[in-house]
Amino acid sequence: MIEVMCTKCKFMYWPDEMYKGLCGECHRDTRMAFKPLDTLTIRSDLKIGVIYDGDAGERLRFHSGMAEFKGKKVTIRGYVGYGYRIVEDYGIWSWAYDMFEKVGGKKK
Ligand SMILES: [Zn+2]
Repeated sequence: MIEVMCTKCKFMYWPDEMYKGLCGECHRDTRMAFKPLDTLTIRSDLKIGVIYDGDAGERLRFHSGMAEFKGKKVTIRGYVGYGYRIVEDYGIWSWAYDMFEKVGGKKK
């Protein structure tokens, strides 16, 4: 996938994460707890079809296509206004704050 550079922070992002030339981090909601390149583990007890809470008021459903990532270590890619993007699924799914395991003071 072709990446584009954020005009503000110069980080390389996927085009669909850009908004007015800025990346997900630069127009990130300040309530979001995780930042790009944070590594986290997807909770292994997530249930398909259940809606989980995000940290900026969004509520996201856990889909069957996301199940393969349960218990896996993933890397935060960015945030696009309706959840986190992760590197490992190529940005296909939107991940809510509550779908990640909270470890070692990562809890906000
Ligand atoms: Zn940026």
